[in-house]
Amino acid sequence: MHTYDPALTDLVVASLRDRLLNRPRLNHPGEADKLDRILAGLIGPEGNDPAAVLRLWEEQLAPTVIAVDSPRFLSFVPAAPTQAAVLFDTLVSAASAQGVSWLLASGPIAAENQVLRLLADLAGMPDEAGGCFVSGGSAANLSALVTARDTARRRRGLGPYDRVRFAVSDQAHSSIGNALRIIGVETFPVPAEDHRLTGDALRAALLADPDPSDVIGVAATAGTTNAGIIDDLAGIAAAARDFGLWFHVDGAYGGAGLLAPSVRDRYRGVEHADSLVVDPHKWLFAPLDCAALLYRDPRLARAAHTQDASYLDALHTDDAAQWNPSDYAHHLSRRARGLPLWFSLAVHGTRAYGEAIERALTLARATAALVRNTPYLELVREPELSAVLFRRVGWTVGEYTEWSARLLAGQTAFVAPTGWEGETVARFAFLHPETSLETVEEVVATMA
Ligand SMILES: *Cc1c(COP(=O)(O)O)cnc(C)c1O
Repeated sequence: MHTYDPALTDLVVASLRDRLLNRPRLNHPGEADKLDRILAGLIGPEGNDPAAVLRLWEEQLAPTVIAVDSPRFLSFVPAAPTQAAVLFDTLVSAASAQGVSWLLASGPIAAENQVLRLLADLAGMPDEAGGCFVSGGSAANLSALVTARDTARRRRGLGPYDRVRFAVSDQAHSSIGNALRIIGVETFPVPAEDHRLTGDALRAALLADPDPSDVIGVAATAGTTNAGIIDDLAGIAAAARDFGLWFHVDGAYGGAGLLAPSVRDRYRGVEHADSLVVDPHKWLFAPLDCAALLYRDPRLARAAHTQDASYLDALHTDDAAQWNPSDYAHHLSRRARGLPLWFSLAVHGTRAYGEAIERALTLARATAALVRNTPYLELVREPELSAVLFRRVGWTVGEYTEWSARLLAGQTAFVAPTGWEGETVARFAFLHPETSLETVEEVVATMA
């Protein structure tokens, strides 16, 4: 099993080449009983011909993957990994490029840290800022909030059962609420103004609370997932400073806008973040699964996350230059999942990234104009980033659902409806630089 197998290598490399060459179809969801039948008996004491297994993958399983990286995938948050990033990702696996500790993986960690430094510079975070890559925004939010909680407990002399709360708006991503529940921190809800969390609203909520002293932090969003709204980061940062709160910024989707000159000023205040999350597997064109987690003061994360086991002692020295990614999140073993982005950035340069991000922003603005000029459509709000919410005048929930299913069945596009202020509306999420206005026009025409 561990001997080089030229035939197997050729098979898999040919399949890889085919996937890179051919633009993915949108595909269709699979059916559980059919898949069960296809897989029945496949794994037993004896193996199978690798060509047959690969064929089963290519013909039966891969086509059930809805291609989030298709330029016609316009739902949720799409993906669009660069060819360079995808190819290097295969090398990361082949090289067993793990990224647990400096002792075992100094080169990969140095390269990952180069990318983290780039993101920290784009955000305007200080020289000491640093962190690691984790599997996704949810994992990054969880690890950041653990650090916020433990830091507050230590500074305030609180025990593990003392009540602490974290300020959030109802527009925060569901993973924030999840993470707080997991770590036993209550939410301190702050009403958003027009779906945007502001410093004034945070101050007002704190002042209206009978005892806000147990509020330890605030989670702001730099690009809400549904509508792409960037919270009042500067105002929230100032309020957080005045009330001694940890300032967390969730830019899982929107953080990429830091590279886009046309929207960069909307992120003013992000430089004050105590922790910042950006998902390269979303708008920084990296393959799944990759989220960047940055701390203003990484020592606080180390204090919260360093695992204490005697077999790990060799990893931890007093040398601060020896960076152990395992010390900055709730993980230990990890692949060096920041490397595909590192390779692609090194190959293409940051300007190409900025231009690719601007394309989605430009398309969102053009789509807003198209919606305004289409009599049967109404724009729900001006897009701030690359998500466009709009309604088809007079449509019921059922009509949106049928329309969405019809679009996918015809492989025109994948456009899932969304909820907005209790109403079902249509939503485009742009990200792929090759999504065209023609595709948008094609979709809009199906709503006539
Ligand atoms: C997507 C998203 C998340 C969750 O990220 P995953 O990578 O899916 O875990 C968190 N916050 C925001 C704002 C997001 O858009």
